[in-house]
Amino acid sequence: MNILVINCGSSSLKFQVINAESEKLLAKGLCERIGMDGSCITYENKADNTGKEFNEIPMPDHNKAVSLVLSALTNEKTGVLKSLSEIGAVGHRIVHGGEKFTSSVVITDEVIEAIKEVSDLAPLHNPANLIGVDACMSLMPGTPMVAVFDTAFHQTMPEKAYMYALPLKYYRDYKVRRYGFHGTSHSFVSKEAAKVAGRAYDDCKTIVCHLGNGASISAVMNGKCVDTSMGLTPLEGLIMGTRSGDLDPAIVDFIAGKEGITATEVTNVLNKKSGVFALSDGLSSDFRDLEDGYKGGNKYAKLAVDAFCYRVAKYIGSYTAAMNGVDVIAFTAGIGENSAFVRENIMAYLGYLGVACDKEENAKREDIHKISTADSKVLVYSIATNEELAIARETYELTK
Ligand code: AMP
Repeated sequence: MNILVINCGSSSLKFQVINAESEKLLAKGLCERIGMDGSCITYENKADNTGKEFNEIPMPDHNKAVSLVLSALTNEKTGVLKSLSEIGAVGHRIVHGGEKFTSSVVITDEVIEAIKEVSDLAPLHNPANLIGVDACMSLMPGTPMVAVFDTAFHQTMPEKAYMYALPLKYYRDYKVRRYGFHGTSHSFVSKEAAKVAGRAYDDCKTIVCHLGNGASISAVMNGKCVDTSMGLTPLEGLIMGTRSGDLDPAIVDFIAGKEGITATEVTNVLNKKSGVFALSDGLSSDFRDLEDGYKGGNKYAKLAVDAFCYRVAKYIGSYTAAMNGVDVIAFTAGIGENSAFVRENIMAYLGYLGVACDKEENAKREDIHKISTADSKVLVYSIATNEELAIARETYELTK
């Protein structure tokens, strides 16, 4: 069965077609600037590797974008499907499932209503995700659709981990609690980590460090997430590309007063103008630039990288305490998969756990590889995440 995986944003739509049995990627692409001038579609046939196609085509709405995706997939020359009937199901990434969704579900009218109900927790993302669902339903009636939530994997967190120490009214009335994000990645990578470590998933303590432009970390004990660093929104936790991560909440009012701006404007700064971008004095949010700056003697690039790694190391320490030990640590996402420099810097804090970095292995770039030495007490891996494959697997399981 072929699965179409859709990740729909307010003005973009990423897609992949994956064969569920072979797990082979058949095609991928991206629609950008939907509803704006200069909209374009990029399409790649990965089955025959016919190269990347790029077309500027007006896309006034998501229906047009989905119809262009379906035409590209069935194009006589470069398509990977003879007809749309070769798509067995569609898997949609949905950012927020609130407390309602603890796993992926087949989409029904009731599910759509329930996703709408939790949309005030992700007002930018959930409505955009639903536009993609709607467009696919109208163009592919009868094809089963599945919702895969970024928050679902973290729903196993115990109360003591997800509750904020705030008046309970905020939780009862507004569902203010920690949810966590990147769940599809944490789930995928923790499973891969147990597999490569030769451990049973339900008998393994794993810490997954998802270090990308958005960054989060999770503690997965015996197959269940017991803690994760993002909270009500993705702002909490690690220092990220442009997000501050953890800070004293009193800062919001303090800066609002000093700068004469609103709390909303300060929150915007915390999301978009903070993180390593701010610490590097505006040099970059990209770790390739920060590493170059660090090695070139730029003291703010050094500060940004050092603060980032220090925060990750502190979380690893606290999650080791939360699980009373750790068997496996996995690094993933853009920085976790590619930056040997960052991985080594973080591992240097973990000597007390018996972690030892194999520098030669760590310097390699492979999809899955062990980067700890043979005598390291904790197994450490770099593992490529694959959220689309994880969505395809979930979709297949629910619709085969
Ligand atoms: P992601 O959000 O997972 O796509 O990760 C994107 C981030 O990964 C970029 O902003 C970079 O900071 C980082 N990144 C990607 N490639 C490299 C690399 N070769 N070395 C260091 N960092 C990288």
